[in-house]
Amino acid sequence: MANLEQRYQEIFRLTPVGLWEEDWGKVLAALDELKAQGVTDFVGYFADNPSEVFRLAALVQITDINDYTWQLFEARDKQEMLTSLSEVFDEESFPVFMQQMVAFAVGETVVESEAYARTFKGNRLHVHMVLRRLEPAEGRVPVLLCMIDISKRKQVELQLAQVNLELKRSNEELEQFAYVASHDLQEPLRMVASYSQLLEKRYAAQLDERARKYISYSVDGAKRMQALIADLLRLSRIGMQGKVFEPVSVNDVVDRVITDLSITIGDVGGRVTRDELPSVSADDIQMGQLFQNLISNGLKFRRPDIVPEVQVSVSRDGDDWHFRIQDNGIGIDAEHLENVFVIFQRLHKRGEYEGTGIGLSAAKKIVERHGGRIWIESIVGEGSTFHFTLPALKE
Ligand code: ADP
Repeated sequence: MANLEQRYQEIFRLTPVGLWEEDWGKVLAALDELKAQGVTDFVGYFADNPSEVFRLAALVQITDINDYTWQLFEARDKQEMLTSLSEVFDEESFPVFMQQMVAFAVGETVVESEAYARTFKGNRLHVHMVLRRLEPAEGRVPVLLCMIDISKRKQVELQLAQVNLELKRSNEELEQFAYVASHDLQEPLRMVASYSQLLEKRYAAQLDERARKYISYSVDGAKRMQALIADLLRLSRIGMQGKVFEPVSVNDVVDRVITDLSITIGDVGGRVTRDELPSVSADDIQMGQLFQNLISNGLKFRRPDIVPEVQVSVSRDGDDWHFRIQDNGIGIDAEHLENVFVIFQRLHKRGEYEGTGIGLSAAKKIVERHGGRIWIESIVGEGSTFHFTLPALKE
């Protein structure tokens, strides 16, 4: 391995990573002196004597840096970088020096930190560095420092966080808007609905057939709008008025839904069965809405010639529970599989099936609020399976 030194030199010269060779001999000697004077808590000591950090940091001797380092710092040459280090690391980086010194003082040999620095042209750098203390030799304590530039990554992370925040805010605003609009629309609509119903009831005898038909259309329209608005209100409440999550037995939730749906189940002559289901961390009211929407759809979109069956099952998938709600109904065309989760999307003409087209968008919102995802598999004329995941409780 005679060429080991040469290989090291090549790596030092060519690698796109900042490499520094330092001598911490004087710093460690000063730290030993402090220990001899009885300092044991270095964090407390440096906090009380911040000027000591400056004094000790100045004792670090940089013996060499590779080209990548001075280029990263936009220095004219290696010399400029080595003679004016204090220009690139200002006060902001002293907590980092402190962390490194404390670590070496207590005998650690590897320290990782992130720090800010400034290039010679005044640009801000965010760097990640690893310091490795090597065996002391001839009074020196060599330290090898590796440094990568993470400025771009940090900038993107910051932008992403800002965009996320903005998205969250506008989402909340939209939710608030939908809530206020649907809430405030209820009252005038109630007036329209109840007065047209009153008109129908009290004056039907005095009106001709055509007028009665017109009134019944407006009663019908007002009722539909009430149903839509009530659903919209329920949808906007999912994000705004959700409860704090607590362990909820999904067995109990599904049993309750089956009881609530017992009249419908009886009317259509159907059957709803379930596996043994786990408990999850959830808002129990919303879990009820979720299963109610999916199970009742399974019964509603049945094939006329067959006993409607809906089965709720579950399996474990890594950190999640994977729930399935399977029916033997009419199925959904592959091209509509994604659309059905969009608000007000319905695949049938009004009159064919009751509904407002909000059930599945509510289901999606509930699942996502609980940290899961939802999707469908379906074959037209055979049935559909709604899949969703929910994070399992930590054991
Ligand atoms: P709604 O039931 O009020 O129409 P949903 O949002 O619950 O609204 O469902 C949207 C559409 O998706 C339904 O109109 C229907 O066309 C389709 N769909 C939902 N569930 C099923 C199912 N189990 N089988 C077949 N089609 C379904």
